[in-house]
Amino acid sequence: MADSKPPAAALLIRVALAQARSAGVDRLDAQWLLGHLLTRPRAWLLAHDDVPLPEAAAAAWPALLARRAGGEPLAYVTGEREFCGLVLSVSPAVLVPRPETEMLVAWALQCLGDALPARHVIDLGTGSGAIALALQQARPDAVVLATDASAEALAVAQANARRLGLPVQTARGDWWAAAGGARFGLAVSNPPYIAAGDPHLAALRHEPPLALTSGQDGLAALCTVIADAPPHLEPGAWLLLEHGHDQADAVQALLREHGFEHPQTRCDLAGMPRCTGARQPG
Ligand code: GLN
Repeated sequence: MADSKPPAAALLIRVALAQARSAGVDRLDAQWLLGHLLTRPRAWLLAHDDVPLPEAAAAAWPALLARRAGGEPLAYVTGEREFCGLVLSVSPAVLVPRPETEMLVAWALQCLGDALPARHVIDLGTGSGAIALALQQARPDAVVLATDASAEALAVAQANARRLGLPVQTARGDWWAAAGGARFGLAVSNPPYIAAGDPHLAALRHEPPLALTSGQDGLAALCTVIADAPPHLEPGAWLLLEHGHDQADAVQALLREHGFEHPQTRCDLAGMPRCTGARQPG
């Protein structure tokens, strides 16, 4: 006898998006998620909302929706995030790259200026490799070293470098311990800077605590990166750091205390003081 099971009802794109709405998933996130699943741009989804999802996609959809509805960052659910025009693979072993960090990259590129060849650059606590890879992409002539204490994070950064064909070097270790004896003309870092116990950590519970929190006031890693920097920097080198919206004064004070000159702070697009940098004398 032929299989009498009726075919499962096709899941139309507009129905899938309505399911997302009912699950409490933001409309734009749902479109990104479905576009990722179907490997189609959002505009295509909007123009084809009466098209049924292929069977495999329809089968995968509920689990993806549930993950996003449960608060997992979209980047972990899709496995990727765009940063400075590069599509980076991300996993829960790394912080999801944030748009405000693109400003640190822009500042770093200004510091590199027109000098050819660019000086040696280090990205301390690279995570997915976002900053290091964006700098290497913009400055193929730079020698860029990306470090991280986490082997899992470094594996993500290395895989991104390979896939993007960018020759960023990597080294594992805590902050400057990974730098070896080299001296750098530019150092950048987006270290963990959230205070332990900060209420906004609840919203970041899917991301690695190692990449988020640093001591009671959130300044422990920033302090280490600044205090240990001088012997690793060339005269005139820049050190640029991302930090919390209320940490600019403390970071400027730490930089001065450790012999850096002319600290400056830049605000992110939300108008929050977000990055501070200063130069070694010379
Ligand atoms: N900018 C992130 C946030 O507050 C934290 C990243 C970090 O600690 N470096 O969501």
